[in-house]
Amino acid sequence: MKSESISKSLFDTADRVIANTYQRFPLALVRGDGCTLWDADGKSYTDFVAGIAVCNLGHAHPKIAEAVALQAKTLIHVSNLYYTLPQTELAEMLVTQCFADRVFFCNSGAEANEAAIKLARRYFFDRGEKDRYRIISMERSFHGRTMATLSATGQGKIKVGFDPVLEGFDFVPFNDIQALEAKLDETVCGVLLEPVQGEGGVRVPDADYLKGVRRLCDERGILLIFDEVQTGMGRTGKLFAHEHFDVTPHIMTLAKALANGLPMGAMLATEKVASAFVPGTHATTFGGTPIVAAAALENLKILTREGIMDHCREMGEYLRERLAELMEHHSFILDVRGMGLLCGMKISVPAAPIVRACMKKGFLVNAVQEKILRFVPPLIVEKEQIDALISCLEEIFQDPDLVEEGG
Ligand code: PLP
Repeated sequence: MKSESISKSLFDTADRVIANTYQRFPLALVRGDGCTLWDADGKSYTDFVAGIAVCNLGHAHPKIAEAVALQAKTLIHVSNLYYTLPQTELAEMLVTQCFADRVFFCNSGAEANEAAIKLARRYFFDRGEKDRYRIISMERSFHGRTMATLSATGQGKIKVGFDPVLEGFDFVPFNDIQALEAKLDETVCGVLLEPVQGEGGVRVPDADYLKGVRRLCDERGILLIFDEVQTGMGRTGKLFAHEHFDVTPHIMTLAKALANGLPMGAMLATEKVASAFVPGTHATTFGGTPIVAAAALENLKILTREGIMDHCREMGEYLRERLAELMEHHSFILDVRGMGLLCGMKISVPAAPIVRACMKKGFLVNAVQEKILRFVPPLIVEKEQIDALISCLEEIFQDPDLVEEGG
């Protein structure tokens, strides 16, 4: 069978048997290497999506592949009833890299945020403050799709049809310290926010905003939770985005790039806060399972030892510089923003047709919200690949059907 018809039959079968929760592009990817992916027909794509900010070291990284293969031959899973080496080594390395003293491992960003919400509530429960259970999070935030994390997410569209959402979640505008201050009372246990909003449109706060949030939390005895699921693991040019703002939280959540493509989430906390979790309070079968932990450990070693984050900062600046050049020539481009290699371009026309046009030309980019293009390549992306993307966008932006309002 020709590969084209293999793809067609794959799409047909998948659309029949897989839950219809994603609007997929008609593209079957079969192989990857660094920043390049190949489809079933052998066509190559330069990847500015990285599995949605997941494959920070790129695809098929030889050292990650080797760590996974070796661990697969040694021990894949035994449960958390026993100690295992990769999980312990990983936790120790993570806590030496940040404010935290303890790590709870899970399998996704939503689960990491669930754990954070439960820990914040339990912390005050243990102190006899049972009425202190509310979480304040941000408008336009994204924290996941489980019932608690969608309740904490500041986007109405993801809640439609799932009422009643959980009680005890409130929202304030991101980057507005007065609005937050006005909401904080003795019923609030935690403030949950992304240091840089990702799904909400790649929004970077003012330089002193996060410090202001921490100050308010300290004044009122409230726990500060940073959701670094998207911004963590070097994406913004530091291991964790909050490092740019010279502030630490009490709790931080990670997932996405933690194991460079294997499913892993983590919730990290200071000793004082983490002590509210004791045996029986929280658990998950696969959390920190050896094979995933081995990948994450290797990932963390590479990220911290091979100058990847310096490269990410340099390439991020270069990408934004080149995107800003496009803005000079096209009035439909309203803003170019981001941090490290989490970049967004706000436009006044729908982003989806531009994403499809890029794909036709061999570039994967994606859209967040209706009119924001997001660029989150592997952190190892090179200038030549950025230049090629810019040439592709330049060509696409000549097409009036794509870039004229109402076109
Ligand atoms: N938090 C943030 C900031 C995210 O960007 C995401 C996913 O996009 C999540 C949480 C949810 O992560 P997951 O899809 O792994 O549940």
